[in-house]
Amino acid sequence: MGSPSANNIFSPLEPESFTDESKTVIGFIADYYRNIETYPVQSNVKPGYLSAQLPKTAPYCSESLEEILKDVTDSILPGLTHWQSPNFFAYFQANASTAGFLGEMLCSGLNVVGFNWISSPAATELESIVMDWMGKMLKLPSSSLFCGTGGGVLHGSTCEAVVCTLATARDKALEKLGGCEYITKLVVYASDQTHFTFQKAAKLVGIPSSNFRALTTSVSTEFSLSPEKVRAAIEDDIKSGLVPLYLCATVGTTGSGAVDPLQELGEIAREYKLWFHIDAAYAGSACVCPEFRHYLDGVELADSISMNAHKWFLTNMDCCCLWIKQPKLLVDSLSIHSEIMRNSATESNTVIDYKDWQIALSRRFKALKLWIVIRKHGLANLMHHIRSDIEMAKRFEALVREDKRFEMMATRRFALVCFRLKPKREDEGSELNGKLIDAVNSSGRAFMSHTVLTGVYVIRCAIGSTLTEDRHVNELWKLIQEKAQFLLLE
Ligand SMILES: *Cc1c(COP(=O)(O)O)cnc(C)c1O
Repeated sequence: MGSPSANNIFSPLEPESFTDESKTVIGFIADYYRNIETYPVQSNVKPGYLSAQLPKTAPYCSESLEEILKDVTDSILPGLTHWQSPNFFAYFQANASTAGFLGEMLCSGLNVVGFNWISSPAATELESIVMDWMGKMLKLPSSSLFCGTGGGVLHGSTCEAVVCTLATARDKALEKLGGCEYITKLVVYASDQTHFTFQKAAKLVGIPSSNFRALTTSVSTEFSLSPEKVRAAIEDDIKSGLVPLYLCATVGTTGSGAVDPLQELGEIAREYKLWFHIDAAYAGSACVCPEFRHYLDGVELADSISMNAHKWFLTNMDCCCLWIKQPKLLVDSLSIHSEIMRNSATESNTVIDYKDWQIALSRRFKALKLWIVIRKHGLANLMHHIRSDIEMAKRFEALVREDKRFEMMATRRFALVCFRLKPKREDEGSELNGKLIDAVNSSGRAFMSHTVLTGVYVIRCAIGSTLTEDRHVNELWKLIQEKAQFLLLE
């Protein structure tokens, strides 16, 4: 291609080279997946490694795809932590699948910006349809779906979903209280196991940090939020002249997979008129299986619920589903009118303008991706994926329980196993288990992460990467045992 010149016309989007070059990139990605088990799962590069390898300034002339892909191989791949490796057991998985990839390709290939209905009617209409499909798979009440009185939207992350619902609840409360100055009175409630994204969201919408209640959980409630504690905290705050605003419950906490008691919490929220949000970012996916749906019992009481299809639902990043009971409140809070957006469809009040359901104006056609994921896999295979991960986690749990040097540290509900190597003395627990994780991760053969539950350092093994099979889980356990043996001999 070379640089632009008289006999070399610059054509940045041209179907012929597009076809060839995308085939090259797809081939590159396919090879990456073929070799994925050969890479150290967690990258071991040192901070700043990349600037030593790349030029200090951008190229003036065009470079070939071959040159660029060579640099991806030589400089970028070594600095990746391989989230799609079957030996990735850290955090929560970010599932990729062929269908998710195809959907993502169509989304970026068509590259429309569906901020309102008129800007791409199919983008809006497909999103509404797919959100109802997803909601029905999760057996959400019709009050949260378009076929009833609610509706759903795709966001990039749970954090955005929570920011938008918090802003809605805030605006509604401030209007009732009579002015913005009352923002210092508003209080939000969650547990100490609620994802930190909630705290970030509360900060972003202006809730003072002193009004953020992270109620402590304990082993006795299996790390779930105690309704009694919530009620007591609400009562205390009311006595102090504060205004309870928002309660966030979690189905499948990040630390241990705990499930908060939705029914009881929802009733408290209703009694004190709090906005009730359910964060099912991780475990929501499992609730498409009838045997796990009971974890969502009480969802009827929620004002909003969110789940990340990009975690466990074979949907490539990013894709967070948010359903809301009263979309009108969300729109009241988030809509801004501008002449450039004026159109007759909006004025007819018969269409959705998703720009009013999210933070940004511009938006990707993510619904296309989720639609293809659902159609190409079908509910049957999606359930199979969840179930086989949970079966693998059960077998891993059995291995932990069989070896008396180890102990389980939280009830396993989904595919997350929390355990540790028993220390000789309790005060040696974090150092010992920290060393164990380091030994496993630095081997490059697997990657796990940790958390702290009521002061105790715990290893998290999150099973659920798309490519993980029994043999990887067995190998992981052998590796852990081997490294533990070494540490115990020290
Ligand atoms: C992963 C996770 C989040 C964070 O999600 P983002 O989409 O990254 O904002 C929130 N809550 C729970 C329970 C999670 O597991």
